[in-house]
Amino acid sequence: MNILILGSGGREHALAWAVMQNPKCDKLIVAPGNAGIAQIADCASLDAEDGGAVVTFAEENAIEFVIIGPEAPLAAGVADRLRAAGILVFGPSEAAAKLEVSKSFTKEICDAANAPTAGYGHFTEAEAAKAHVRENGAPIVVKADGLAAGKGVIVAMDEQTALDAIDDMFGGAFGGAGAEVVIEEFMEGEEASLFVLCDGEEILSIGTAQDHKRVGEGDTGPNTGGMGAYSPAPVLSPEIEARAMEEIVKPTMRVMAERGMPYQGVLYAGLMIKDGEPRLVEYNVRFGDPECQVLMMRLGAQALDLMQAAAEGRLSEARVNWAEDHAITVVMAAEGYPGAYQKGSEIKGLKALPEDSMNMVFHAGTKADGDRILANGGRVLNVTARGDSLEEARDRAYAMVDQIDWPEGFVRRDIGWRAL
Ligand code: ATP
Repeated sequence: MNILILGSGGREHALAWAVMQNPKCDKLIVAPGNAGIAQIADCASLDAEDGGAVVTFAEENAIEFVIIGPEAPLAAGVADRLRAAGILVFGPSEAAAKLEVSKSFTKEICDAANAPTAGYGHFTEAEAAKAHVRENGAPIVVKADGLAAGKGVIVAMDEQTALDAIDDMFGGAFGGAGAEVVIEEFMEGEEASLFVLCDGEEILSIGTAQDHKRVGEGDTGPNTGGMGAYSPAPVLSPEIEARAMEEIVKPTMRVMAERGMPYQGVLYAGLMIKDGEPRLVEYNVRFGDPECQVLMMRLGAQALDLMQAAAEGRLSEARVNWAEDHAITVVMAAEGYPGAYQKGSEIKGLKALPEDSMNMVFHAGTKADGDRILANGGRVLNVTARGDSLEEARDRAYAMVDQIDWPEGFVRRDIGWRAL
């Protein structure tokens, strides 16, 4: 099978790595890819958000299956263009991608599905939004309706912060994304993520994970794209996971199908768990990055079969073959991230590291310069390991981190602390 993966991050390196393990894969192209991906697959320069260009590229390269990594091409309708051209694709339609693109849309679908989530109000002008805040008091959560790269959510512990956030959003701080605002009840609890394959009708869990959003140890400092993750997440016990599937994911998928937007691809459910009860925080319509890295490490070659079964509407026949294992990924970031950082420093010592089913360094923001690997982004490497226990996986991952010679980089030393 000839396969095209769209995207260029650590998530796509992990997807490419898993797909390459499967003997079914004859040829793999990743567009645009990165320096790490280029070591295992062909990379092509292609605008992943241009549906017409992706279809033409797929036809010219005899591609039989396209896996879409990030949300932007999904929101731009690239999956629809591929399907219309008769090319098998993993990823939801533009209409179904609204589960990530619009927070008010998701809240409305949750209402229709009776799925447990935070109470909310949806506003198109500031005064009504402020009245809602004054009525409900703090803590309260103010969200720009559209995509704002993780920055459009203000968890306000006092009323004034919420009122200021409303002014910022309607004042254009998030562009079009803040033209509408969702205000939510503050939920307490522990967050974890559940990843579910969907084929329009059937659903299949492919694992749980927990991310580390803050830059500093002990979950301190500013938010980032994610400094590390591990799977499984013990807080999502099999019982709570089953409840989340029954009470949240399944009814959401039913409502989407009833409304003519059957969902196909991976659904990432961000959950808040308190007293054994899961409630939905948000949906994303793609794998998390870095959560994908730990999921792929655990799934290996079968990831391709599972994604293909979802794309072909055959999930009812699919099963996950679980090893009783754990995986962890530690993000190596450039000094200064998530603020200003330098690009171009050299990373040494990568060649000496093992690359096998237990140990992998996935590249996120890197660039090749001849034989040298240079840092080319904020989050640069995802040092990933698997083990019989989380401790074992963690020790393996940090042993690799310690062999990487990159003085301009840093890691959090406490990835996995909640579970450990
Ligand atoms: P963006 O759309 O800007 O990319 P996002 O999709 O990451 O942001 P959310 O996941 O909805 O936004 O919220 C970000 C974080 O804010 C959550 O991971 C959670 O920690 C916190 N949060 C969001 N909603 C609530 C809530 N109702 N109660 C408590 N915390 C919340």
